[in-house]
Amino acid sequence: MANILFNQVYKRYGKYKEIAVSDFNLTVEDTEFIVLVGPSGCGKSTTLRMLAGLEDVSDGEIYIGDKLVNDIPPKDRDISMVFQNYALYPNMSVYENIAFGLRLRKLPKHEIDLAVKRAARVLEIENFLNRKPRELSGGQRQRVALGRAIVRTPQVFLMDEPLSNLDAKLRVQMRSEIINLHRKIEVTTIYVTHDQIEAMTMGDRVVVMNRGIIQQVDSPEVIYNKP
Ligand code: ADP
Ligand code: ADP
Repeated sequence: MANILFNQVYKRYGKYKEIAVSDFNLTVEDTEFIVLVGPSGCGKSTTLRMLAGLEDVSDGEIYIGDKLVNDIPPKDRDISMVFQNYALYPNMSVYENIAFGLRLRKLPKHEIDLAVKRAARVLEIENFLNRKPRELSGGQRQRVALGRAIVRTPQVFLMDEPLSNLDAKLRVQMRSEIINLHRKIEVTTIYVTHDQIEAMTMGDRVVVMNRGIIQQVDSPEVIYNKP
């Protein structure tokens, strides 16, 4: 668990140095759930990817806890990330998918087993552990992706439009499941979406971006004028 600090962070892409993120300043509190919302192309993914180390920072500093992470490779950042397209390994069982990161870290077998079963219990996928991803529904697959992300408790949990491939009914259900999951694991979380309803209902605070710039940071009640 950790707080996060973005200090005057910029991202410029490519030969023409087009600005994707400009003067991004934000402090995320330990265990807070932040929703980053804004139209397509406004810089949400770029911001998340810089935090995860998947994209270089052009200017400014990012801290996780008191550690400057600008030059720290992704695998050493203690971050778990869930993507829109699940990125499950199709030829591995659900169990093997969830265990994969722990096996890479060469954890003892019994520890891996405990961790996989605990994550599966939290997400209620214990009954599917032997299935392959293709034998699961979209919602079940997304739960496996979440399971893989939380199987070892990271300092920071990032989600990039995790629900946008699901149908409307499942989206509603997964919204509350993710909120419940966050309550259980209490990990500092940043959730990216272009969906206003997700922004209104999920986060402790909402960060509204437009054209690479933060427009507003506040509680969902204030931003969306809820009573
Ligand atoms: P969002 O996640 O809000 O949809 P992105 O962070 O993906 O926005 O993109 C922000 C801007 O940066 C967009 O103008 C996009 O075209 C540009 N961009 C994103 N990734 C790259 C890249 N790898 N190379 C060049 N430009 C990029
Ligand atoms: P960790 O939990 O250590 O991040 P993961 O099991 O999540 O390990 O996966 C390691 C890397 O492999 C991640 O970057 C993930 O996005 C990528 N990955 C996972 N599944 C696939 C897949 N089916 N195809 C391509 N890349 C994948």
